[in-house]
Amino acid sequence: MAPQVGFIGLGAIGSPMAVHVAREFETTVWNRTLERAWKFGEQQGAAVAETVPQLVEWADVVITCLPTSTDVREVVEQGGESWSEGQLLVDATSGDPAASRAIAEWLAGKGAGFVDAPVSGGTSGAEAGELTVMLGGEEPWIAAASEVVAAFAGKVVHVGPVGTGHALKAINNALLGVNIQAAGEGLAALVKLGVPAGRALEVINASSGRSNVTENLIPERVVSRAWPRTFRLALLDKDIGIALKVLQDTGVPSDVIGVTKRVFGAGREALGEEADHVELIKEIERAAGVEIR
Ligand code: NDP
Repeated sequence: MAPQVGFIGLGAIGSPMAVHVAREFETTVWNRTLERAWKFGEQQGAAVAETVPQLVEWADVVITCLPTSTDVREVVEQGGESWSEGQLLVDATSGDPAASRAIAEWLAGKGAGFVDAPVSGGTSGAEAGELTVMLGGEEPWIAAASEVVAAFAGKVVHVGPVGTGHALKAINNALLGVNIQAAGEGLAALVKLGVPAGRALEVINASSGRSNVTENLIPERVVSRAWPRTFRLALLDKDIGIALKVLQDTGVPSDVIGVTKRVFGAGREALGEEADHVELIKEIERAAGVEIR
């Protein structure tokens, strides 16, 4: 029988993910700002829980998509005695591997399972139901998690034990951060030399330096001066911090990612909690005294 799914966290990416879940499964949602949940319920035909225990009591599988593992831990503990044997938490937050192992242990004490299931593909990937999902955990929970995340996924990969999905996601996003910083710096220099950004990108994108940043993000958001807000810089800064800790914990050199963490931390302070991740390039432009266009 298809599981009943509870979804917690209707933010920028959680909300379009939950739309797909609600299309395929009987779904109940909860959101800290309840008005968002009521609006979602009305538009998508999902039920709304007024409290976390209410949702946990009802669901077979609970999906969380919150800013940090600290928020997930808080919500899981709010569920308290409502967690029961055989239930599963699928955590789609870009979380912290060590915190996830602790949450998994807490849930195991109740007989419940945990799978970390962070996603990649951005809000557009979530709207299309084409996200890449990386799963950390053990069978039989992995099979149960795969069934529900398929609702919003184009690709699902079981990467290893609990926490490894979150570790892989953090490293992926650290690479995104490195590419934003490096491409921003390189393009700023080229524009100062008189090369229009579009022409520089035409060459880079037919050459070995290309990346998602040069192929998509910079043309669509920087050169266009559109600067849409889809993924908060504060969240990417958090992810790069997790990646740095993963490198330190595993005894791997972290020179490049260490510098990128410092640059994103400073960008977050300068631009605030609501700025988009690509807006980091505004700080490079400011320091260089040039606009990348
Ligand atoms: P948002 O900031 O847009 O949304 C956060 C959601 O979490 C909101 O629903 C918010 O509720 C809720 N929330 C925040 N703190 C708490 C708390 N302490 N207790 C309960 N609920 C809380 O974040 P996103 O949707 O962008 O990101 C969610 C996760 O997905 C993050 O880990 C992020 O790194 C990751 N991610 C995001 C991507 C993107 O493109 N946006 C891409 C890939 C991963 P409220 O409505 O009350 O504020």
